[in-house]
Amino acid sequence: MIYSVIVDLSASEVDRIYDYKGEGYAVGTRVLVSFGKRQTEGYIIGEKQTSDCDESKLKQIIRPLEDFPAISQQLLQLGSYMRSEYHLRWADVLRLFIPAEMRGSRVRALSKQQICLATDDSLDIILNSLKPNATMQRDLVTFLYLNGATLAETLNKEFGASALKALKDKGIVSSQQIVIRRTPYKDLAVGKADKKQLLPAQQHAVDTVLSNRQGRFLLHGVTGSGKTEVYLTVIERIVQQGKTCIMLVPEISLTPNMLRQLRERFGDTVALLHSGLSVGERYDEWLRLKNGEAQIAVGARSAVFAPLENIGAIIIDEEHDSSYISDFNPRYNTLDVADYRAKQNGALLLLGSATPSLGSYYMAQKGQLQLIEMPERINKQPLPKVEIVDMSWETRRGNRSIFSSLLKQRLAETIQAGNQAMLFLNRRGYSSFLMCTKCGYVAKCTDCDVSLTVHRDDNMLKCHYCGKRFYMLDQCPNCKQRSFRQGKIGTQQIEQLLKEMFPDVKVLRMDADTTQTKESHGKILEAFRNGEAQILVGTQMIAKGHDFPKVTLVGILDGDQSLHHSDYLATERTFQLITQVAGRSGRDKDVGTVVLQTYTPTHYCLQLAARQDYVGFYRKEINLREAASFPPFSEILRILYTGEKEKDCIDLLTEQYAELTDLKGKYPAAFLYMDKMRCPLKRAENKFRFQILIKLQKDSLKQLIPQIYAVCDGKKRSGVQVSVERNPQNLS
Ligand code: ADP
Ligand code: ZN
Repeated sequence: MIYSVIVDLSASEVDRIYDYKGEGYAVGTRVLVSFGKRQTEGYIIGEKQTSDCDESKLKQIIRPLEDFPAISQQLLQLGSYMRSEYHLRWADVLRLFIPAEMRGSRVRALSKQQICLATDDSLDIILNSLKPNATMQRDLVTFLYLNGATLAETLNKEFGASALKALKDKGIVSSQQIVIRRTPYKDLAVGKADKKQLLPAQQHAVDTVLSNRQGRFLLHGVTGSGKTEVYLTVIERIVQQGKTCIMLVPEISLTPNMLRQLRERFGDTVALLHSGLSVGERYDEWLRLKNGEAQIAVGARSAVFAPLENIGAIIIDEEHDSSYISDFNPRYNTLDVADYRAKQNGALLLLGSATPSLGSYYMAQKGQLQLIEMPERINKQPLPKVEIVDMSWETRRGNRSIFSSLLKQRLAETIQAGNQAMLFLNRRGYSSFLMCTKCGYVAKCTDCDVSLTVHRDDNMLKCHYCGKRFYMLDQCPNCKQRSFRQGKIGTQQIEQLLKEMFPDVKVLRMDADTTQTKESHGKILEAFRNGEAQILVGTQMIAKGHDFPKVTLVGILDGDQSLHHSDYLATERTFQLITQVAGRSGRDKDVGTVVLQTYTPTHYCLQLAARQDYVGFYRKEINLREAASFPPFSEILRILYTGEKEKDCIDLLTEQYAELTDLKGKYPAAFLYMDKMRCPLKRAENKFRFQILIKLQKDSLKQLIPQIYAVCDGKKRSGVQVSVERNPQNLS
């Protein structure tokens, strides 16, 4: 038999299928092959009777790497779709489907020695066969008799290794290797939770979803409307029918929370897939899904590739979240992938959000998604009251602090009442840049065109793009002056200012700096939930999903921050962020308050977000998008050229641009816009960055995308990477 193999080469830019000879392999199996002078891993993606190459020269597959096909037929099909849709290399796509450490055999199943009694004799008979003074041996046997099979390591610890060895030698106990599953977040929810009686709105949502097992749904429910319970009930019903489910949540920080609720309900049948797990845990959870031990996969976006068969439902919570779009290689959109997998399996797709993405809500308007509304909070609790503060007025009044007088007052009241507050600022570090007051020198990363952020914890300057760290400056390297001005305030400084303002109040901070270890997210959130602190300061990590009953005040310190970006998604993102953050307030009995600080208090986005008027915002924004023919009324393509040699990037871009211009000449109506330029972020990680931006008519995509990709694959320059993004989230 001839097998089509994708060779797993990391550095290579080639995307070729190689033919190998072999017998008896299943498609999807990972195999060892010789390639050039060395041996490498590969994936069998197809089989055939004959090769187009000279068959006498084909090499034999050396051996399989696992005794099962790691990648299912369905996932191979999905891979092929993703490859043509997003312009990806086979090897990069296939890697998405297996735990990273399976490659290179850096992880294997954990097996341990288990001991059990080797005879069916009664305890008395066994004990009689042992010496009366062999206490440890006697205790060990008794223990085994009462407790059944036990790990050798436990017995060794309790009774000593010599006792166990002696019993083994006498043939009284026997040992066997058993596979141990490493379980992430073991302590999370071992108990069972009571099922909630669904409220009418929830019942209606569940009934609607279950009435069409292959439907596409958008559940638009305000924050606190009880969407989670809807998801759980749908999963329960699907699993009861012997099918499997995938439940996606946006960020690592949210997974433990969702995992807890799923485990309370479904116990061991839930497996967690995300990058924050240890290598062994990730592998074992994947394996449990693969071999049917677990039927429910939960995780961030990569869980959409869970190795499940017979999928009945794919649920995407907070579907508007930008983390569902992978913005580095391999780039893909989780919602499209989920839709494809749902179709493959005849499964239903349920998207949920309080602030659906404009694109999804538009699809619902057009009938491509069935809209389900849950407009009220549980117990008809009112949405929080939002107070907008004009910060330029504060400045005119002489208040130069980042806290408005209203926010200070509300903070004091909240603390007084024994409640909790969350303060949101999407900027970590101490301050956003360091500038010499004399010559204007700004400290920048040596590898990126990015100014360095001041960090006070360790007194360093850090590049928030590539993570590189630099020593703090005590004098300007340019003019030797020792006086610096600092940029905008970050979360570190907020934490410090709060401690000065309220010396007796405990403050917690959650941002990328305080959450570097695996469990730190959960620990901070748990501490806050337990009331160990009264104020939680954080970046967007604190914005989503968390349900803290004692929070009655939310402060948004810089409501404009994301508003004035030049890209077309800026207003939508700001609206979502503010609504989400505001939704954290007043989720229990007390009505919540939100203080929204801004320099543009009359902006429609902030006004509508303050009223939590999603539909009002949608109407306004969708009209603007249509007028300017932005997505969802068009498709934006960015072709990115990056390389260490500036000239090579420009040369390649120029050549490909010329070919694209020819293409545009052939299809003038399809190209709404095309231009080439330096990226706003000119250099990153020591590479220059250039781009071609194209805006395409929607109905021309099928015809044009392959032709545009062909141009990208055509001419080459060594050292220049060409990558394509569709509807990029970020145009920097
Ligand atoms: P959402 O995800 O829509 O923001 P949640 O699912 O977090 O809302 O639900 C908000 C709160 O309401 C949670 O504390 C949840 O336990 C509670 N809740 C949800 N459904 C019910 C119900 N049917 N009866 C009582 N409480 C409920
Ligand atoms: Zn950098």
